[in-house]
Amino acid sequence: MKISERVVLKFPKELVDKPTISNLVKKYDIEFNILQAQVLPQKEGLMVIVFTGEENVVKHVLKELRSQNIALQRLKQDIVKDDKICTHCGVCIGLCPTNAFYYDSSTRKVVFDYEKCITCMLCVKGCMVRAIKIKF
Ligand code: SF4
Ligand code: SF4
Repeated sequence: MKISERVVLKFPKELVDKPTISNLVKKYDIEFNILQAQVLPQKEGLMVIVFTGEENVVKHVLKELRSQNIALQRLKQDIVKDDKICTHCGVCIGLCPTNAFYYDSSTRKVVFDYEKCITCMLCVKGCMVRAIKIKF
C-alpha cells in the first residue's frame, strides 16, 4: 500500500552539509517533497518533508534517518485557520517560527501557508479568538 508521511527532521550540526536525503532517495527510490528547510541559529538543520512510497519502504527510510541520529517527528495533525473567525490581528505572524502566516497587503488579510506549518501549536494558544484549530 502506498502512503505519504509528513515529518519534521532535525539534523545535528555535523550532518547539516551532508547529502543525507539524496543518498536515501537513491537507495530506496522513494518520492519526496521538501516543504521547508532551514538552518537554525544553533547550526542545526530543520526540514519538513513528505515521503511517499510503499509503506514498508517509507518505514525503512524513517528508521534509517533515526539511526543516523536525526530527530524525527511525524506530523499527524493539521492546523487550520477559520477565516470566518479570524480578525486578521497579526498576532500569529509574530508567533510562528516558520513564517507560515503572512500579511497580504493587497487584501489586508493574514494568510496561512499550510505547506510551511510544522504543527508546533504555538499559534493555537496565541490566537485570542480561537480562529486556529487542530484538525485530527
Ligand atoms: S492571531 Fe488569530 S485572529 Fe489574529 S490573525 Fe492570527 S488567526 Fe487571525
Ligand atoms: S502550528 Fe506552529 S508552525 Fe504551524 S502555523 Fe502555528 S505557529 Fe506556525
